[in-house]
Amino acid sequence: MNIHEFQAKELFARYGIPVPRGRAVKTARAAEKWAAALDTSVYVVKAQIHAGGRGKAGGVKITQTKDEVPTLAQNILGKTLVTHQTGPKGRKVRRLLIEEGVGIAKELYLGLLVDRATGSPTFIASTEGGMEIEEVAEQTPEKVIRETIDPAVGFHGYNGRNLAFALGAPVLDKPVMKALQSLLDNVYRLFMEKNASLVEINPLVVTTDQRLVALDGKVAFDDNALCKHPDIQAFRDLHEEEPLEIEAGAYNLNYVKLDGDIGCMVNGAGLAMATMDVIKLAGAAPANFLDVGGGATKETVAAGFRILLKDRKVKGIFINIFGGIVRCERIAHGVIEAAKEVGITLPVVVRLQGTNAEEGRALLAESGVNVDVATDLWEAAQKIVAMKGKKRKS
Ligand code: ADP
Ligand code: MG
Repeated sequence: MNIHEFQAKELFARYGIPVPRGRAVKTARAAEKWAAALDTSVYVVKAQIHAGGRGKAGGVKITQTKDEVPTLAQNILGKTLVTHQTGPKGRKVRRLLIEEGVGIAKELYLGLLVDRATGSPTFIASTEGGMEIEEVAEQTPEKVIRETIDPAVGFHGYNGRNLAFALGAPVLDKPVMKALQSLLDNVYRLFMEKNASLVEINPLVVTTDQRLVALDGKVAFDDNALCKHPDIQAFRDLHEEEPLEIEAGAYNLNYVKLDGDIGCMVNGAGLAMATMDVIKLAGAAPANFLDVGGGATKETVAAGFRILLKDRKVKGIFINIFGGIVRCERIAHGVIEAAKEVGITLPVVVRLQGTNAEEGRALLAESGVNVDVATDLWEAAQKIVAMKGKKRKS
């Protein structure tokens, strides 16, 4: 799960990580009120969407005039911001962060994530803050610094000193160096205690008066651990999530929306990946990843159908089930009932293999439900790609 910058900063503040004074608002009127209360020399108005690159897209405005804040707020609120992280559709701005401007001497990059190669939390830092770290890694890989933390030992002073010396001049001043040590310690604590999968501060700035301040914040959490953290769950913003993914979540279906037009319903993540590959190979593109899981039932199949059909792009449905613990005849019953209930007007190809596959195929053939039945994966994929877009009666 991802959260907004203002929520990340709220969390940072709880962990003693310095952030500018600020408040999230939903209207220009509230922006005006808060700007008056903030009473500072520089005001920053920042669009709150689950995507970076807002600065370049016009979603971050800086002014020295308090009276300009409501106008800037009015201009950004309700706008659809397109950044390199939002995709071409962009994200609608429903909230702003109004915060004090900070005098910047140097912008740094700081990230903490789990490095899969070592299986350990790893700090990533760079003197090239404000830029995308991926870009820095590509153009000047020597400027990306890593410090792996042994989770059994935890974060220690020497980890901080390694990072500080590698960052060099910008942080080697004594007060900054001390601030960096405690900031790193606090970021590590937050990461571990809240089961984060990413904490990113870009930029982390050294201010003109030699303080360290987190000017931006991105935190992502491991969904499997969210049940332990009601305070993090409360940060959820459903506006920022794909509605069909939310619905799928309610049925415990693993669903990820994609851009193609063949809707896929598959049991098992590995088979779902293989199915997507084979659709590509047959000359089309999958509309989604959908794993109905090992315990697929009539209800989950019906829910899967409904979700696939709500995606207007879908022009054909490919059901690919390998019966192991799940018995194919039960899936066939599920498909038949769901097809009758939901009323499917798109071509559907069902491929059943494994436990009781023959029985399942026979049930489908006898049911009168208008679906095509297949045995072989390649044959089934070619069939649905050839049939897609054709109307049919359920
Ligand atoms: P994004 O990464 O989405 O573009 P940031 O929060 O990183 O958004 O803001 C972009 C840039 O705006 C920062 O790199 C920084 O230079 C400037 N900025 C953001 N917040 C402040 C602030 N409170 N004071 C001064 N400058 C800021
Ligand atoms: Mg940023």
